[in-house]
Amino acid sequence: MNERSLVAVVATKDHGGTQGAIAAGLEATGLGEVLRPGAKILIKPNFHGGEGYTSPEFVEALVREVRERVAGEVVVGDGPFYGMEDSSEYYECIGVAEVCRRVGVELVSFHQGEYDLIEPGLRALPKTIGVTKWLAWADVVIDAPVMKTHFNVATTLAIKNLKGCIRPRDKRDLHTMDLHLAIAALAKIIRPHITIMDATTAYEGMGPSAATPVDLGLVIVGTTPFEVDVVANWLMGLEPAQVRYLREAETLGLGQVPGGIDAIAARTNLGAEELLGLRRNFARPYDEAHGRFPNLRINAEMACSGCLMNLFTALGEMKGAGEADDLRGYIVIGRVPEGDWPDLAVGGCTFSAWDETESVPGCPPTIEQIKTALRVMSKREARS
Ligand code: SF4
Repeated sequence: MNERSLVAVVATKDHGGTQGAIAAGLEATGLGEVLRPGAKILIKPNFHGGEGYTSPEFVEALVREVRERVAGEVVVGDGPFYGMEDSSEYYECIGVAEVCRRVGVELVSFHQGEYDLIEPGLRALPKTIGVTKWLAWADVVIDAPVMKTHFNVATTLAIKNLKGCIRPRDKRDLHTMDLHLAIAALAKIIRPHITIMDATTAYEGMGPSAATPVDLGLVIVGTTPFEVDVVANWLMGLEPAQVRYLREAETLGLGQVPGGIDAIAARTNLGAEELLGLRRNFARPYDEAHGRFPNLRINAEMACSGCLMNLFTALGEMKGAGEADDLRGYIVIGRVPEGDWPDLAVGGCTFSAWDETESVPGCPPTIEQIKTALRVMSKREARS
């Protein structure tokens, strides 16, 4: 075991629950020292606006552990997907508002606060972007993502979670750019002091918003989002070298993508055998979608969470109603690849295909609009 690890992978069952696992992870990495008494703390979970979020139980355990160490001001906050201006109803619905009231910390929605404008000077990002002023307010920023698969970038973990810190319009714009490169670049300009990942319940399959829960019982604590994502991707059955946003982050100087189990183990608190015992092949989004909707082809490479969420909620409801096998055709959400015209283009970002194919406007279109369009497309395709 290393004296101080870059990343600690800790089982909750070995430490009396989530708070004990967080404490053990902070000790194994030496990150407990960052939480000095009196520091102002910002905890940034993943509350993106749909299913598959950092759990309220995890947030409660994290707040309690941080409070015991700093006795200072703690704020919990996130900015949801582009299009959700006010997240107060969502916060109530997922139970995190109740948790924050119980433990006595402020819960904020970044979208309703102010942003500092910065010029990143990186070609992967817009010339100017807004980052929440809460980052500058805090002495210590804790990135607290949940472990989850993602249609666009394979996984949404500590690096992707940073996207919640930027202005809504910048989130939208990132989905018109190279998202792998853009989130890697974001990790260059937004540098949380500690990363603590909720892998107590992780999510596989059709993430980010229609994924299936996996009971993992793990907490992953690390010095940087990059290091945590390397280990988390590997635990999810991916080779870090095949995850493009990690390679882009390496190019930007954020760390080294390791090859092989020994190099992974060398940066953690566990040996290779113990890590192998924890590894699990997570179901991939497109594989899962194909299994659930065998006659449907989906391209969601350039979509943001707004369209992803509404499309997959619509599909889930149609599957529940026994319509899954009837669905057929090729649909695109987000930007349409030039010349690869779908049978149905969903959402305002697909406008380039509207002269060529059926479309559903809206940003995002409603679930009912999407369901109606899917039925029309499927009937047409069945006849052709
Ligand atoms: S149309 Fe859809 S993918 Fe495009 S910005 Fe709006 S919600 Fe996101």
